[in-house]
Amino acid sequence: MNCPSCQSVNTENAKFCGKCGAKLQESNTGASPSSVEQQVNVEREVSAVQHEQNIQVEKAKKLAGNYVEFCKEVMISPQRFLQNKAL
Ligand SMILES: [Zn+2]
Repeated sequence: MNCPSCQSVNTENAKFCGKCGAKLQESNTGASPSSVEQQVNVEREVSAVQHEQNIQVEKAKKLAGNYVEFCKEVMISPQRFLQNKAL
């Protein structure tokens, strides 16, 4: 793109003119800034999904733990378990 100040040609991704150092307008640079932002959004979504998966894993662990406790209770005192169930 051309520098708005000195009209020298700069690369599309340049934020400042290489010749005079003037700030280049970013509106005409095309996909670069928005694609970077998209990448950031994707990473946020991925980390959110991973967080959700961690929650599911923790739930599964807890359920498994409850199940083990349940089995222990039944094995140790089946009659008491049946009485509790009847109540
Ligand atoms: Zn310039």
